[in-house]
Amino acid sequence: KRADLTSPIYGGNKVRKLERILPEAKERGKKRIVTVGAVGSHHVLATAIFGARAGLRVEAAVVPQPRTEHVVENLRADLAVGATVRPARTYVGAGVSVLLHAGRDALVVPMGGSNVTGSLGYVDAAFELAKQIEEGALPEPDTIVVTLGSGGTAAGLAAGLALAGLKTIVVGVVVAAPVWFVTGWTRRLVRATYAAAGGRDPSALRGRLRVVTTELGKGYGEPTEDGRRALEIAAEAGLKLDLTYTAKCFAGALKYVQNAPSEQVLYWHTLSSVPLAPLLENAPPVPAGLERLLRS
Ligand SMILES: *Cc1c(COP(=O)(O)O)cnc(C)c1O
Repeated sequence: KRADLTSPIYGGNKVRKLERILPEAKERGKKRIVTVGAVGSHHVLATAIFGARAGLRVEAAVVPQPRTEHVVENLRADLAVGATVRPARTYVGAGVSVLLHAGRDALVVPMGGSNVTGSLGYVDAAFELAKQIEEGALPEPDTIVVTLGSGGTAAGLAAGLALAGLKTIVVGVVVAAPVWFVTGWTRRLVRATYAAAGGRDPSALRGRLRVVTTELGKGYGEPTEDGRRALEIAAEAGLKLDLTYTAKCFAGALKYVQNAPSEQVLYWHTLSSVPLAPLLENAPPVPAGLERLLRS
């Protein structure tokens, strides 16, 4: 499922979350979005791009992450579209920064856009999938394999599949740490999103989300050997992956298919495939305070 094609401006899985979050900000009369992420966060970049287009100022507190070319490009693109990016050393520090800069005119959005509002964007996605199944575009999958970072995508899908009356379950491949926190947050988000979307039968959620923790390696943004191999296999099929999210997920998906050869498995692709080059032409230099967050 090509969530890389969610927008011709900048794709990936954050677009659907913002389709819910930005209208909420406007309806509530907010002028700014204040959020957090890693220094090369796709969520921060997507919010910076689409927030600016919606007439909102975007501010983000960002934390260190291993340096890759992709991470540096995302940061430069944040700056190119006019986002205010504030360095923090830890997520606790980032939280303090967010509290300091929040205010009545600001909507505070958590990491990855993974609150109930953002996850409702993936309830929408599950209903889109149900329609595609009905139209015969694909058989009803037994399983969707998707990357699990901050959890909103997997949670929204799990809730949405239950609401749409599909049998499909979600396998979330964890790429962020600590695993206990990510898993707990995501499971709570499944229930809260289901209820917010009008779900009345929580038993429809039983077994709906399985969490796979074998692909994380040394942690968020740290590449793994299996991920590198999965990236090469996908490249042969014309699918471009990244080492932080989708390569780890695809590695998990390949193993899942091997262990369950009779299942219909849908890989849900979450990485934007829109080139950033046009944006980067006008990017200012990266200030030293942010440069220091790129760990080599
Ligand atoms: C943010 C992101 C994810 C993780 O989605 P969550 O909703 O945060 O779990 C997966 N893949 C890519 C490419 C992302 O940018």
